[in-house]
Parts: sequence; C-alpha cells; structure tokens
Amino acid sequence: MSRSNILDGKKALVTGGSRGIGSAIAKRLAADGAEVAITYAGNKAAADATVAAIEQAGGKAVAIQADAADDASQRAGIDAAASALGGIDILVHNAGVAEFFEVDQDTDESFAHQFGVNVRGLHVGTRAALPHIPDGGRIILIGSIAGETAAFPGIATYGATKAAVAGLGRGWARDLAARKILVNVIQPGPIATDLAPSEGPVYDLLISQVPLGRFGEAEEIAGAAAFLAGPDASYITGTTLTIDGGTTI
Ligand code: NDP
Repeated sequence: MSRSNILDGKKALVTGGSRGIGSAIAKRLAADGAEVAITYAGNKAAADATVAAIEQAGGKAVAIQADAADDASQRAGIDAAASALGGIDILVHNAGVAEFFEVDQDTDESFAHQFGVNVRGLHVGTRAALPHIPDGGRIILIGSIAGETAAFPGIATYGATKAAVAGLGRGWARDLAARKILVNVIQPGPIATDLAPSEGPVYDLLISQVPLGRFGEAEEIAGAAAFLAGPDASYITGTTLTIDGGTTI
C-alpha cells in the first residue's frame, strides 16, 4: 500500500469499516496519516482485525458497533466516534447491503432493510455528524454504478438506493458549500468483496461486462477515497467518481 502524510492530524470515520471496501478505506486513510474510527454491524472479529492491521502499521484506530439502519444506534455510533477522535474531519459513508429479488418476488422487508442501511443510515448519520465536522471537512458517500444501470434482473431496489445516494451527495454538496465542506460520491463497479459474487452466472455476466476483464480490488476504491479526502481534491464537490474498469463506458 502506498503511504503518505497528507492526512496527518485528520480524524476520519468510515462506516462499515470491518470488511471489504470500508476496511480498505480505513487502512488507506490511516496509512496517509489520519486517525480512524470504523463502525460495523455485527462482525466484531473483522472490525478488530481492521484495527489491528492499522495499529501494526503504526496508525491509530478504534472500532464501534453501530447499526446504520437503526437511528439511535447510528447516532450513538457517530457521537462515540467523534468523542473518541476529538471531531470528524472526514466522514465516509460506506456501510451498505445488497439483496437481489426480481420485482414479483421482492418484499417490504428487503426494501426497508436496503433503504434503511444504504439511504436512511446516511441521512441520519450525516445530520448527527455535522456538528462534529469543521468547516472544510469532507464527506464521501459510497454509491454504485447500480445507481445508473441495471446489469442483471433483481437489482432494482439496490439500484434505487444507490440512485438516492447520488442525489443526497449532489444536494449536500450544495447545502454545505458555504461551510467549504466537500461532498462527493464514489460509484464502484464490481469489486471483489463478500458483497459481490465470486462465481456463478451473475459473476460470469458481470465479468463479461468489464472491459478491463476483472473485478476491482477494494484498495482501488480506497485510493480514490484518499484522494477525495486530501488536499488535491480541494475544488471537487458534488461529483460522482465512477471506478468500474470501464463497465459503464
Ligand atoms: P461487504 O459486504 O464486504 O462489507 C459491508 C460492510 O458494511 C461491513 O463492514 C459490514 O459490517 C457493514 N454493514 C453492513 N450492514 C451494516 C449495518 N446495518 N450497519 C453498519 N454497518 C453495516 O461490502 P462491500 O465492501 O463490497 O461494500 C461496501 C460499499 O460499497 C457498500 O455501500 C456497497 O453497496 C458498495 N459497493 C460495493 C460493490 C461491490 O462490488 N463490492 C460495488 C458497488 C458499490 P459487518 O462486517 O459487521 O457485517
């Protein structure tokens, strides 16, 4: 992993930092000098492993259990992170879930769960975090190319949550510009994590759609998050950055 000190002195909160893309982002922000808090839903062992990896590399990190879909839990997690870190300069809303049902099989429960984690969690979490974010802070939302495309049957509700993420990002960028808080959305294509298939017909279909011929690595999203969190992104707000190996060309 490349390292720098561009985030020295910064405090970063990454939701869903126990596994996958969130874990990679937490490690990368720490490698660039930030002190990091991560939240997780239930996987304490994975959260502890992320913290241990950061500490072994000489960084500082703390893990906090907080269910993004539960308003009180999400607010408490944000407040706990702000108090452990002494503020939040960089907020990365990464926690997310994906469930795939075609419309005639879809359920109220799945709709509520996906919108609860992927959208409501961001809305509650950002409002809870704002008092802790200084002017000039950064908010990075992890959306998906599924917010703009429907690559296979059953992706409608997940895609709708990610379209909502893009909308929140644009609107918050405008709302928070007066405070020089920059808000941007990263829209990954298929990335090799627990959330994405690693074999089977959907995997075969997805791979066939990627011009670069492979799934991305979580670290390739983390590098972009570090860029958007850092000084070189000082004039970037309200944008969506697609990182998908060319899938949506
Ligand atoms: P993973 O399934 O690998 O990890 C999900 C993370 O989110 C875990 O840390 C998990 O915690 C956490 N999480 C899940 N539900 C909740 C909840 N209710 N409250 C708090 N945390 C929760 O997923 P990815 O790393 O692949 O995905 C990260 C983000 O990237 C998501 O927003 C996803 O939609 C998006 N994305 C992923 C793509 C991919 O191909 N992988 C493509 C496009 C977007 P725990 O370990 O405790 O379960």
